[in-house]
Amino acid sequence: MTLLLEQYMSLGGEIFYNHTFESFDQSNCEASFENNEKYTLSHLVACDGIRSSIREQFFTLNQQPRYSGYSAWRGIGKSNLQNIHFALGPGSHIVSYPINNEGDVSFVACTKEAYEFTESWKEEGSYNDLLDDFSIYDPKIFPVIEDSMKLYKWGIYIRPPLKSMIAHNLTLVGDAAHPMVPFLGQGACMAIEDAYAFGILCKITNCDFAKVQKTYDSIRSKRTKSIQRMSMMQGKIYHLKNPIMVAARNAVMRYTNVPGNDLKKIHQYDADEAIQVALFSEKHALGFSPADQD
Ligand SMILES: Cc1cc2nc3c(=O)[nH]c(=O)nc-3n(C[C@H](O)[C@H](O)[C@H](O)COP(=O)(O)OP(=O)(O)OC[C@H]3O[C@@H](n4cnc5c(N)ncnc54)[C@H](O)[C@@H]3O)c2cc1C
Repeated sequence: MTLLLEQYMSLGGEIFYNHTFESFDQSNCEASFENNEKYTLSHLVACDGIRSSIREQFFTLNQQPRYSGYSAWRGIGKSNLQNIHFALGPGSHIVSYPINNEGDVSFVACTKEAYEFTESWKEEGSYNDLLDDFSIYDPKIFPVIEDSMKLYKWGIYIRPPLKSMIAHNLTLVGDAAHPMVPFLGQGACMAIEDAYAFGILCKITNCDFAKVQKTYDSIRSKRTKSIQRMSMMQGKIYHLKNPIMVAARNAVMRYTNVPGNDLKKIHQYDADEAIQVALFSEKHALGFSPADQD
């Protein structure tokens, strides 16, 4: 958990706590915070999540996050489950997985429904409401929930893809740029890849932000848009209702490597290679020959 933090601090990174971002003066590249602190910056990288105020102000006016149509429950209970377990039903699915060797199992249970849960990580729900929402399943599918264990429910929100993740002296990273439905478990992974690509490009170009942004946008927009689309498609596949389609999906999942191979392709993405390819094609477009590539 602390790996990234420790590395960041060891490189001389700083964190300013109690700084709620307030506004950005783009012409002077000055960020203001609610505690009245102001900082003049070389560049602003905004990673302020799905409700990003930077996105709202500088990228897309009046385009608030909207309910995806999916709502989810999550909780942790006790079970002897050893591997990840999927249960798929018409219009819903449940994923459970062990999180340690002490029998703790986390589960996420998603339904597609018009009723809109609030978007919150803290909204608690009751075990009976959970069983009501998933009454088509055998209740034994859920790990054993003890009284002290909390159950949470929340609505899953999305925003349409952006044309570009950069604007003058601003760059968006993570959910601020590309929130997605969580059916491939890739939202935080994309935020980490974004941050990695931005950091490596700063290193390669010695913080020439115009160059960094151009390459960053070309690599990251394409990748994240495709994962946004695939995540949405995964939800549709999990929640199929038509019996023929359900039988076809189940056969593919049971008897072929297709789902595993699709996931492998996502996981095998090589951020360094993507950066090298993009830099090479930019050089090439400017008239450098392949021999010029370092
Ligand atoms: C149900 C569910 C399951 C998921 N499962 C997975 C999974 O298995 N794998 C995966 O990779 N991803 C998963 N995700 C997605 C993942 O949680 C997000 O994609 C990820 O947290 C995005 O990271 P972020 O840093 O961009 O934004 P966030 O994590 O939202 O962080 C944004 C930060 O900005 C801060 N902030 C906002 N406004 C201000 C302000 N004005 N001033 C100061 N700070 C501010 C917020 O307090 C917050 O700390 C899941 C999401 C959901 C909803």
